[in-house]
Amino acid sequence: MKKSLLDITSERLKAYSAQAGLRHSDVRQTVLEKLCLLPQPFTTEELAQACEEDRISIGTIYNVLRLFVSAHIVHAIERQRGQRTKTLYEVEADNQVKMQMICEKCGRVSYFHDKAIERIIRARKYSNFNLQQFTLFVYGECKKCKQLKKTKNNL
Ligand SMILES: [Zn+2]
Repeated sequence: MKKSLLDITSERLKAYSAQAGLRHSDVRQTVLEKLCLLPQPFTTEELAQACEEDRISIGTIYNVLRLFVSAHIVHAIERQRGQRTKTLYEVEADNQVKMQMICEKCGRVSYFHDKAIERIIRARKYSNFNLQQFTLFVYGECKKCKQLKKTKNNL
């Protein structure tokens, strides 16, 4: 059975909350449900309008959207409209290539997208395998842990 947009995004929110130590929030869940019903991509104003009856303030919407971007539930798209740039949001496709950097010290996971790597892997031909998607895990030390080590060494 094909998963609905809400299933996919709810799973991502759950995973992100567990990793970040966030408690369940009804407001986040409501915003998630509303944005899944909107035509994609959507603006912050459109989302705010959809959440109007739930009395969720625009400030909260902005905060929740920022969190959803970190959680890779949605991504921001910048569109040029005349002189101004307008930010639109869109649920991230599930088949998107995932590249993750994982800190071996603190477990922090950050996502990145290296188009050059993707190009190389996509260009590979395997006689007995048809490549569709891939995930890349890079292990190492994050900036915070590196800085922490530096400070400790300087004491
Ligand atoms: Zn770290």
